[in-house]
Amino acid sequence: MTTIVAPCRVDPGPWFSTDPTERTYAARQCHACPMLLDCMRQALASDERFGVWGGVDFESRARGCGTDRGYRVHKRQHEEPCSLCQAAHDEAVDTERRRLLAEAHAAGGTTRGYWTHRALEEEACVPCKRACARQSQERRDRARAAASAQPLPIAS
Ligand SMILES: [Zn+2]
Ligand SMILES: [Zn+2]
Repeated sequence: MTTIVAPCRVDPGPWFSTDPTERTYAARQCHACPMLLDCMRQALASDERFGVWGGVDFESRARGCGTDRGYRVHKRQHEEPCSLCQAAHDEAVDTERRRLLAEAHAAGGTTRGYWTHRALEEEACVPCKRACARQSQERRDRARAAASAQPLPIAS
């Protein structure tokens, strides 16, 4: 008779690794394990915060990894965000920039839209370029007007 050994008993390293990529690997190995469900239930019951149990990465789960919130948890603890959180954060930033851009375009192009294009590493569209050029022109005009203006009467 052959006994099936839980994969985490052979080399528990990846199951308790600090590297989430290794834990993802470990979680995949769990799916071949006959104790999968019992293991997960027990870890849930004891509110496990470290390691992989029954195919679930409890550490990532406890931290909210893979979300923009998880990213902020890493930052608050002054650590390098894990790859899952970094990806989620990048996506959140990108989504926010796209939203700002849609707003700028609904307004017929804005200076903010111009800089948002640049942050997205793309060329600004014509309306946003115009808005930006217009604003710097106005700023120059105002500066010139202020330089040549007579002192204003003091408003009462
Ligand atoms: Zn993370
Ligand atoms: Zn634009």
